[in-house]
Amino acid sequence: MTEFKTHAHDVLVIGAGGAGLRAAIEAKTAGADVGLVCKSLLGKAHTVMAEGGMAAAMGHVAPADSWKVHFRDTMVGGKLINNPTMAQLHATEAPDRVRELEAWGAIFDRTPDGRILQRPFGGHTHARLAHVGDRTGLEMIRTLQDRAVALGIQVYMECTVTRLITGADGVRGAFGYWRTTGRPVAFASKATVLATGGIGKAYTVTSNSWEYSGDGQALAYEAGAELIDMEFVQFHPTGMVWPPGVRGLLVTEAVRGEGGILRDKDGRRFMWDYLPEDRRGEYAATDEEAATWVEAASRSRPTDARRPPELSTRDNVARAIYTEVKEGRGSPHGGVFLDISYLPPEHVKRKLPSMYEQFKELADVDITRGPMEVGPTTHYMMGGIRVEAATGETTVPGLFAAGEVAAGLHGANRLGGNSLSDLLVFGARTGAAAAKRAASVAASPYLDPVQLQGANAALAAPLERADGEDVYAIQRDLQEMMGRLVGIYRTEAELDEAIVRLADLRGRWRAVRATGGRAYNPGWNLVFELGNLLTVSEAIARSARQRTESRGAHSRLDYPATDDLTWGGRNSTIARAADGTMAVRATPLPAMSDELRGLLDPAHQAVAS
Ligand SMILES: Cc1cc2nc3c(=O)[nH]c(=O)nc-3n(C[C@H](O)[C@H](O)[C@H](O)COP(=O)(O)OP(=O)(O)OC[C@H]3O[C@@H](n4cnc5c(N)ncnc54)[C@H](O)[C@@H]3O)c2cc1C
Repeated sequence: MTEFKTHAHDVLVIGAGGAGLRAAIEAKTAGADVGLVCKSLLGKAHTVMAEGGMAAAMGHVAPADSWKVHFRDTMVGGKLINNPTMAQLHATEAPDRVRELEAWGAIFDRTPDGRILQRPFGGHTHARLAHVGDRTGLEMIRTLQDRAVALGIQVYMECTVTRLITGADGVRGAFGYWRTTGRPVAFASKATVLATGGIGKAYTVTSNSWEYSGDGQALAYEAGAELIDMEFVQFHPTGMVWPPGVRGLLVTEAVRGEGGILRDKDGRRFMWDYLPEDRRGEYAATDEEAATWVEAASRSRPTDARRPPELSTRDNVARAIYTEVKEGRGSPHGGVFLDISYLPPEHVKRKLPSMYEQFKELADVDITRGPMEVGPTTHYMMGGIRVEAATGETTVPGLFAAGEVAAGLHGANRLGGNSLSDLLVFGARTGAAAAKRAASVAASPYLDPVQLQGANAALAAPLERADGEDVYAIQRDLQEMMGRLVGIYRTEAELDEAIVRLADLRGRWRAVRATGGRAYNPGWNLVFELGNLLTVSEAIARSARQRTESRGAHSRLDYPATDDLTWGGRNSTIARAADGTMAVRATPLPAMSDELRGLLDPAHQAVAS
């Protein structure tokens, strides 16, 4: 029997992005002994890539903004299937969390009178995103990391968790291995927080880093937790399309927030044709009105002009670009054109420094002199682990989740900027709740040796097989299949085919072989990540098949309408392990109070009642 080094903590936080760091800080401040595990180096989490900003109704640029408008925007953007309590907590608490970050050392861009500057983004009624140029995530991670280190939080870097260890009383800890050596390690914890981020690596074209392999979703699922609304995968409208090596890399929505115009190959501004009828009144009616809005936004001045059509919600813009390309009006490399070069070059370089460098370095395009080529890219997971709104507690005792791995706040479509504020608001809440739970558990939990040995045997198996398939081939097939059959547009026949193909891929994965040693072995590491990607892909495909309507990021060609009678505002999909298979069912959404419903427009109130 292998002996494991076991580290014991009151609270174990798995994931050191914005959500994990914020949870760890809160738990530590509440008096808990905290261990923080991450599979890359501290500071390298995906949050560091965030560009455009964090949404919080502080009203620095638009005094008319308030939590009520932010709540409404989030609900309407999410097509009313958001958890209303989460949307309320997020909208009310985000401003304090941003100010707190500033107090901890984050240096935001400023208004002329010295307050935190806020920029417009798609689906937000007002300029609302606190930002640091287009490098907001870097500032956020730097600040949170400094704070966590100063508080003395114990960090375990380059350590991948592969299994949660459970007992009759719920989750008791975790098992994993050091990526540096391949050696196993165990953690005993009175409360465990998953903050492992998203799932983008299930698709070929994605803005996400290698870390986004759905680990937390799969770990929770295997421990008995529920995954909700997994059909809602956000395809960001603007990723790079050329050169091939950088296809999918994000082109921040801040480009459109600063006035970027989308055009087809003939120079036509096509977004005018795609505005949803029920929201058309919120957008400019002419090029001139849109230009007036851009001019005012660039000077942080209030205006009566309405926002440009490019600032429609992400799901809508992604479908528009997809359709333009499919119908033959795309750019030479299979995208469309995004143009900000009509603004003064110094302004573009100041507001979008990363985009300027990204296109110059990677595509030899000067965005101050000509347009970018862009197309949709897999970006964000709205679905995820089902949690209690106020505490982040999952349906499994002792297990909590926060950040992109958790679900509920964003409904069917996330508004840009709402993730970074989500990490802060719910990271803090979850950390506090985990510390409280830990305080109620008397002794460090006992870890079941049978589960530990089983997890250890699973680690060794791919290296011990004499033959078997290459893990990269299976991953390639998965990614290609997900893009083709479970992409922006879906049909029942394609989803059925995807489910069959996923079972086949799972069979191939079970016999996969890894070669080489255990130290820094990317092929061996990928085996476990691929297993997680297969679980989340199955949840996406099955949930997408279950939802027989189109809503937000989920577009069914065979059910093109939003079906408010069956699904409207009242149902989520839930995927759960049942007798060795994945069962998906619909479940009613949490009720919305009369007060919150009253904040919606009359048409939306009728749907939400
Ligand atoms: C290019 C880009 C730009 C974006 N810009 C914005 C923006 O401007 N505004 C906004 O609101 N949102 C933005 N987003 C979305 C936002 O950045 C993410 O949703 C958010 O950062 C996720 O944070 P997180 O804390 O949940 O996870 P992450 O920051 O991804 O952290 C996950 C952590 O979990 C660890 N981990 C994962 N699996 C394991 C495992 N098995 N064992 C141990 N550790 C594990 C990782 O090592 C990492 O430390 C952007 C996303 C991208 C891709």
